[in-house]
Amino acid sequence: MLNNKVISIVGAGVTGLSCALKLAGSEITKGYTIRIFENGDKTGGRAHSIKVDDFSIDLGAGRFSPALHPNVSKLVSELAENIEVFPFTKIAHPHPQHTGLKEVLAQLKPKIFNSDNESFFQFLCNYVGSEKSHAIINGLGYDSLFLPQISPKIGYDIIEKHPEIQCFSDNSSYEWFNLVDGFSVLVKSLYERAAVLGVEFYFEHKLVNLQTKSNSTLLEFSGSEQQEIWHNSTYTILALPPTAMSSLNIDFPDSWSDYTYGSIPLFKGFIFFDHPWWQDYNLENKVTIVDNPLRKLYFKSDKYIFFYTDSAYADFWQEETKKSENEYINTVMNLISVALNISIKEIPWPVSHKFKYWPNGVEFALETSPEHPPILSKNNGTIIAASDAYTSHCGWMEGGIIAGKNAAEHLLKKLEKLAVTERDKLISE
Ligand SMILES: Cc1cc2nc3c(=O)[nH]c(=O)nc-3n(C[C@H](O)[C@H](O)[C@H](O)COP(=O)(O)OP(=O)(O)OC[C@H]3O[C@@H](n4cnc5c(N)ncnc54)[C@H](O)[C@@H]3O)c2cc1C
Repeated sequence: MLNNKVISIVGAGVTGLSCALKLAGSEITKGYTIRIFENGDKTGGRAHSIKVDDFSIDLGAGRFSPALHPNVSKLVSELAENIEVFPFTKIAHPHPQHTGLKEVLAQLKPKIFNSDNESFFQFLCNYVGSEKSHAIINGLGYDSLFLPQISPKIGYDIIEKHPEIQCFSDNSSYEWFNLVDGFSVLVKSLYERAAVLGVEFYFEHKLVNLQTKSNSTLLEFSGSEQQEIWHNSTYTILALPPTAMSSLNIDFPDSWSDYTYGSIPLFKGFIFFDHPWWQDYNLENKVTIVDNPLRKLYFKSDKYIFFYTDSAYADFWQEETKKSENEYINTVMNLISVALNISIKEIPWPVSHKFKYWPNGVEFALETSPEHPPILSKNNGTIIAASDAYTSHCGWMEGGIIAGKNAAEHLLKKLEKLAVTERDKLISE
């Protein structure tokens, strides 16, 4: 190996790719080899779309709002051609709890600052009682709002920053968009740009261990055939979510962060029909929030239907998919008919379907008000961790882009200082 100065980025999701692009685009990294190691066989991680017949569907990240996600917006305008309005800010068949909900939430919001160490659900219970709190969260469609680790502040954040339920907050006018060809297009463009700039990609390389040495880190990977592969790295950026960090021998998060981290599972199910029967019910481009395991049911133009669940109902659907395909589809169809209050006989049988379960779909700090340092690092800044989970945009690509850029900027500053010191040394000799 001719060049022994190596920057290794582990993880080729939007965080790792944003980081690589920033590093590779800088003069300061001239003389360094930049490598990305990825466990899977492609880039993107949780930004993952697939094509079904003529449609692209997002099994992972699926929408962004320019008001909330300026970095995503910028990237999209630079790299993606086709965007369209993500129309699901209009609720069809409003839930009985939706009446007056915006006002109730607005009245309670100032009180979150007095609520130490209690969950959003407990916070609601204090003011409106347990029965109504259950009903409110059922009506909001995001079951993570029931969880003990979701603080009132995070609870309000969820309501204000999700298109389906932003109408119950002051953010009701925010616009949302998605990519017609899916978010994989965006990560693919990042990948191609990075490759053109000379970044080397190593797929099917799962990082399993790190050994720190005086001037470098030895990275141990497991390859596609479980073989051990070793790479020496001068600087290492772990663009991995906290769950992946915790499986390494690096004492994460204890010796990295003042915070602890948790995750929530997510599940998306897509159903395709031979004709858009929901148009007869005026449901095109609407979302309905239901009191059954489908929770949020979306009618995507004349194309398809999908449902999206989190927490306990994500696990529920994961179990359902382990049954026969027929049983799974039967359950979905029955629940759609209940949700819309129409006979199952009125709904045609689907022609195909796709689903994806994400055991750690969203990762986030468990503490009530984490301060989110710009980067987490060890070993005198030679090993850096970056993830949306360490930012105030946890659960969003925006956080990943910010984290990736922060990690790159931190390293670039370090390399610049080093270059100045070396130059001064040469001059003095
Ligand atoms: C169902 C779902 C819906 C979402 N909806 C939205 C949305 O609408 N809008 C939005 O902005 N965000 C959304 N998100 C969140 C968004 O997808 C993430 O914030 C973002 O993709 C995180 O990027 P990342 O690079 O930090 O992590 P990841 O995308 O998780 O990438 C990490 C990469 O590291 C790899 N890896 C893991 N362990 C190892 C290892 N040991 N060795 C090597 N490689 C490893 C993984 O294979 C993966 O490719 C959604 C997520 C999910 C799951």
